[in-house]
Amino acid sequence: IIEERQRVRNGVDKARSTEENLDTSNTDQSDGSGYMLGPVIATYIRGRFLGKGGFAKCYEMTDARTQRVYAGKIIDKSTVTKLRARQKLRSEIQIHASLRHPHIVRFEHFFEDEDHVYILLELCDAQSMMELLKRRKRLTEPECRYFMMQILDAVEYMHRNRVIHRDIKLGNLFLTGELQIKIGDFGLAAKLEYDNERKRTMCGTPNYIAPEILSGKNGHSYEVDIWSLGVVLYTMLIGKPPFETADVKTTYKRIKANIYTFPSQVQISRAARELIVSILNAAPEGRPQLSDIWCSEFMQGPVPRCLPRKALDEEPNST
Ligand code: ADP
Repeated sequence: IIEERQRVRNGVDKARSTEENLDTSNTDQSDGSGYMLGPVIATYIRGRFLGKGGFAKCYEMTDARTQRVYAGKIIDKSTVTKLRARQKLRSEIQIHASLRHPHIVRFEHFFEDEDHVYILLELCDAQSMMELLKRRKRLTEPECRYFMMQILDAVEYMHRNRVIHRDIKLGNLFLTGELQIKIGDFGLAAKLEYDNERKRTMCGTPNYIAPEILSGKNGHSYEVDIWSLGVVLYTMLIGKPPFETADVKTTYKRIKANIYTFPSQVQISRAARELIVSILNAAPEGRPQLSDIWCSEFMQGPVPRCLPRKALDEEPNST
């Protein structure tokens, strides 16, 4: 049982300064006033364990009053004592809470008690594309188009709102039982102040890291997400990521030198290959825009309107 308590403002308790306080919806942050925990306003029942991430444990959490079920990310405050980690968590909450899109994991609510921060998210009950691909090995081209359309739609929305996700990878493409993609985990995301801003730093390492982040010379921007879309598409079609090697150093070398191949034992169309090659351009300014990807020859091919649930485990016969 987890109880959410009302937060009572308390201007006197200076010990709970802004830094202490993770609340991001707080309009009161500038004066450094804190809060105290008041009466219980909601009760949640912790259920099935869903998974573990960098600093969160994720469980099903049911609102006892409404019976609505969420994915509850529970973060132990003792694991986020460093200022950097706190800022990161606060930024994740702030950015994620500002987004609302059918293909982005819905940020429902967040609260905290003395020891934990709780983030309630839309429950995605069919794990992620990573597990799907492990079972399926690789996907058909129509399936890839089906998923790419949803991902492109969500990324277009993020970029329109000046948010760069920076960690688009199969494990962050969550799935509902209806095989709808929901992009999640905004732990590395950045919100730009203005469109031409260049980001120079990032805490943490994205899996499908773009070469300009590795070289770190002129900063990076929206194009890093485009790059990872290329890595995602390659991985869905071929069955393993393009730059994967046994150790990270070699992988980084290959990314910087743009060394990858299309294995001859996997058949993919010329259009698919051309799209991947155009996206995996070492020069960020040479990569296609999202609109160019939409218009690419590959994306014009047949797309299933929906996928049957059995596509989670085996190739559907129609695609
Ligand atoms: P962290 O930010 O600490 O890395 P993640 O966002 O990766 O945490 O979440 C950790 C794990 O919790 C994921 O790998 C997944 O198994 C599970 N999870 C996260 N969000 C959801 C969700 N919305 N629905 C279902 N499971 C989720």
